[in-house]
Amino acid sequence: METVLSIDRIAKNYGPIQALKGVSFDVPKGSVFGVLGPNGSGKTTLLGTILNVLNATSGSYNWLGGVPAHEARKKIGSLLETPNFYHYLDAWDNLAIVSRIKDKGFGDRERVLQDVGLYERRHSKFKTYSLGMKQRLAIGSALLGNPDILVLDEPTNGLDPVGIAEIRDLIRRLNNEGKTIIMASHLLDEVEKVCTHVAILKKGDLLVTGKVDEVMTSDNIIELSSADLLTLEAIVSEIDGVSVKVQDGVLQVFADPSVTPAHINEYCMNKGVVLSHLALKRKSLETKFMELTNN
Ligand code: ATP
Repeated sequence: METVLSIDRIAKNYGPIQALKGVSFDVPKGSVFGVLGPNGSGKTTLLGTILNVLNATSGSYNWLGGVPAHEARKKIGSLLETPNFYHYLDAWDNLAIVSRIKDKGFGDRERVLQDVGLYERRHSKFKTYSLGMKQRLAIGSALLGNPDILVLDEPTNGLDPVGIAEIRDLIRRLNNEGKTIIMASHLLDEVEKVCTHVAILKKGDLLVTGKVDEVMTSDNIIELSSADLLTLEAIVSEIDGVSVKVQDGVLQVFADPSVTPAHINEYCMNKGVVLSHLALKRKSLETKFMELTNN
């Protein structure tokens, strides 16, 4: 798998505050990579560092296998802070101003506005936009120049559920077009729904990183039922490394990943118990995240 960004032991101190304590991970090309963590965990500091807005105290990173910074820069669009759009100007003119400041993407405005679903409204004043539309325009400004990589800090911050869904769709669409997206978020649900990969930060430390699926499935809940739930509970609770709980007429089995549904099915059959229901439920990233960040 090709890597677009490689981060190697980045640390950042603000005076006595250690905002990042040696964080390392790689971002695969074509991923939607979520940097997830509670407030103050160092997400913004990390994004600022990889965008060269902040200098790391130690450690290093490289984009695209180490191409020179000015070349990498052309391929990266970023949104660290909401741009100050002019309220009395429309989207078309606001993007013209941004593109002049950035010196890229002036001829790109039509494509960008279509991409973010604002082309029909391009001549409406910014102040008439909903929060979701304003945020889509902000993402549009990061898309000027058609970058391969997008770095977004909390792209759904402050939006209502409809606005959040719009941004989520937009991120998925941009990813389907082939863009790699790196986004900071404190919304677990968001990361779970939109990201392929995740790095979870807590107080400047990297707790875990990997594919969202894998981070989520590191603990399994297997649901079982049979005609005789009591017998089922009694036999399953004898398996090593599992704990069980009866809830809503099914037996929930909390197991480490080595205990698979197939393993349980075979075990029950050998004990003469026929299962009427067998399902693997993932422990949600939220549960995992709470466990990781609470102690
Ligand atoms: P949030 O979601 O609240 O923005 P975050 O995960 O993005 O949080 P950072 O903003 O990177 O976290 O902050 C990490 C730590 O560094 C916090 O303790 C914060 O108070 C501190 N910090 C950030 N910027 C500065 C600064 N300019 N000067 C001093 N301390 C800072």
